[in-house]
Amino acid sequence: MNIALIAHDRKKEDLITFVTAYKGTFEKHTLFATGTTGLKLNEATGLDIHRFQSGPFGGDQEIGAYVANNKMDLVIFFRDPLTAQPHEPDVTALIRLCDVYAVPLATNMGTAEVLIHGLKRGDFNWRNNVRNKGGSK
Ligand code: PGA
Repeated sequence: MNIALIAHDRKKEDLITFVTAYKGTFEKHTLFATGTTGLKLNEATGLDIHRFQSGPFGGDQEIGAYVANNKMDLVIFFRDPLTAQPHEPDVTALIRLCDVYAVPLATNMGTAEVLIHGLKRGDFNWRNNVRNKGGSK
């Protein structure tokens, strides 16, 4: 599966903790991240992660483009709900695209736990049938 990992600044430590805890699962998949999140995750875990631009510089939109082309199977996005983000429209757009394409999305650790257990169990294997298929309905 192609998995996107994103965390706003105040949530990056939480995401590092989470990915470290499930490293054995994450290392079986292809990982993508926004720039700073990917750098910090790589430094902390050693996992191989494709890094897009930093979020405020277009990284969320790059991940959104993957979602729109059915290339992203799971999005884990630890948002900071208490801090205004300069790229809030990009954040909203990414979440919207996940809903358009029914891509599983977790915006906090509680939901991410459930998704990771589902991932291990094979609950998202249906994504193998839609990955890379065109987005037009
Ligand atoms: P960052 O971007 O990983 O480059 O910090 C995340 C975001 O703010 O969307």
